[in-house]
Amino acid sequence: MSHTGEPLELRALIDELRAGGSPGKEKMLALLDGLMGVSGAQPKAPDAEELREARSYLYASARRTQRAVFGVGVFKRGLIEIGNYCRNDCYYCGIRRGNGNAVRYRLTEDEISACCREGYDLGFRTFVLQGGEDPFFSVSRIERIVRRIKESHPDCAVTLSLGEADRDAYRRWRKAGADRYLLRHETADEAHYRSLHPGTLSPEHRKRCLYALKELGYQVGTGFMVGSPGQTTEHLVSDLAFIRELEPHMVGIGPFLPHRDTIYRAHPAGSVELTLILIAVIRLMSPGVLLPATTALGSAAEDGRERGILAGANVVMPNLTPVPYRAHYALYDGKICTGEEAAQCGGCLSRRMRGIGYELLVGKGDYTA
Ligand code: SAH
Repeated sequence: MSHTGEPLELRALIDELRAGGSPGKEKMLALLDGLMGVSGAQPKAPDAEELREARSYLYASARRTQRAVFGVGVFKRGLIEIGNYCRNDCYYCGIRRGNGNAVRYRLTEDEISACCREGYDLGFRTFVLQGGEDPFFSVSRIERIVRRIKESHPDCAVTLSLGEADRDAYRRWRKAGADRYLLRHETADEAHYRSLHPGTLSPEHRKRCLYALKELGYQVGTGFMVGSPGQTTEHLVSDLAFIRELEPHMVGIGPFLPHRDTIYRAHPAGSVELTLILIAVIRLMSPGVLLPATTALGSAAEDGRERGILAGANVVMPNLTPVPYRAHYALYDGKICTGEEAAQCGGCLSRRMRGIGYELLVGKGDYTA
């Protein structure tokens, strides 16, 4: 670490992470602040040239780890947005209950099956069912949907991303055949969590859900938004510490993007660069973790997903939701790929990946590390 005002030794910190070390809170703060070009607690921020150099060293290190574990293969997951009714009122989210302007929809069980069939023909072997917390999609309805997908496509993984539920629901869905569950912790800082959510939601419950999912044998994904309102570098350091503690199989992160019907409509979007920095840091911390280059990252920058892969991500999640519903699943404004058919989306992503020297894989893509 620097004591005399010369630039932070960012390289040394990156090497420490890469070697499997777990730098403490102060060092992680210095690393993130340094890579963002702010001095934070350090006497001097790096200049533009040092910053460019440190970031490219970070991304190259993360890529080296990614290549060692996954080669140039990128897993694809077919995202099916099953409905946008939600009983919650997360302040940042476009489909929160209180948004009277949202056009609500639900896919039927037959529509969900048809999405999977189409996806299967396009080479998808993982289907991610995501939606708001909607009592219509009861425990038994989801159970039925999961069973049906697994019966039609026994060689595929089913991932659920349906929010918080009780342990018994998670247990039944797992028993019905669900393999994986995505539930971002959103922010590991309790006060920050409470500032982004109404009092009906608690950070403790969300974390308890994550541990229950792990115990039930799911491959579990957590994650957070980058640049959510009120977020500080300290919060991000806590997010990384929580990921270390939980040891998830997947980590989904994307920039916060404002939605016009929320109180944060005028809040600036999260930084693409900081999202890439965090992807790279997570890759170095957890070499085998499944790390998507998210739709939010692709929505924030035209080449966001490519840059995500080049920063160490190894998963993309093309949209299989029927086109007429896609734009209605609007968590934020400016969502990409709301007009293309699934086949076009897959083709486009496959070209984009090839363009940067990577290859979309056909296969379930289980966590193996
Ligand atoms: N109801 C499910 C799925 C939520 S949507 C659940 O509770 O897990 C998936 C993710 O989108 C959320 O976890 C959140 O991190 C992200 N998201 C929501 N609103 C967003 C916004 N305005 N900008 C960026 N990401 C957002």
